[in-house]
Amino acid sequence: MLTKTQWQVCLQTFEEMFPDAHCELVHKNPFELLIATLLSAQCTDVLVNRVTADLFQKYTVPEDYVEVSIEELQQDIRSIGLYRNKSKNIKALSEQLIEEYNGEVPPNRDVMMTLPGVGRKTANVVVSNAFGIPALAVDTHVERVAKRLGMNRWKDRPIDVEEKIMRWTPREQWTQTHHQMIFFGRYHCKAQNPNCPECPLLHLCREGQKRMKAK
Ligand code: SF4
Repeated sequence: MLTKTQWQVCLQTFEEMFPDAHCELVHKNPFELLIATLLSAQCTDVLVNRVTADLFQKYTVPEDYVEVSIEELQQDIRSIGLYRNKSKNIKALSEQLIEEYNGEVPPNRDVMMTLPGVGRKTANVVVSNAFGIPALAVDTHVERVAKRLGMNRWKDRPIDVEEKIMRWTPREQWTQTHHQMIFFGRYHCKAQNPNCPECPLLHLCREGQKRMKAK
């Protein structure tokens, strides 16, 4: 397993490789980020941004999503995977926001997780990016990178990955580490064909060394 000292090397490397890593979901306020993040489940940010470019013109506040028919909303997001379920959740969470939170997204992860379709990952993304509250959302890239590097075991759950990274990373770096690990996983340590031969972390990465030997 990776040591704490080696993890500091990883953090330094993420910073050197991706100093400008950021949230790639286009949004103007917490509500738009909540909708975009919900849409991004099992879908690329590129596709979500293509859909929300029109969606956020047509719908600006929760009331708009409550008023539209489910069929019309489904039609608006039909190019996105799981669009039927996502439409249902967007309408239901908009209703709850109006009824319980005056139409505003609550700036609290645990409260946000009571909204339909909003899990821990989505809530972490929104509190950290929209409200500046340090949090570390574990998506598919963060999980894969942590496990390949030996930060976590392959059998660990996303919550185990989140807790381990948070334990070994200064709180003020959680959000940026989340973005940098996503960029590292999206553009360098890709799911298929990770760039091990040119990886500055190869010397401490068991998975990379295994892959190099197998070539
Ligand atoms: Fe990913 Fe390969 Fe680098 Fe390991 S050595 S972090 S598997 S790219």
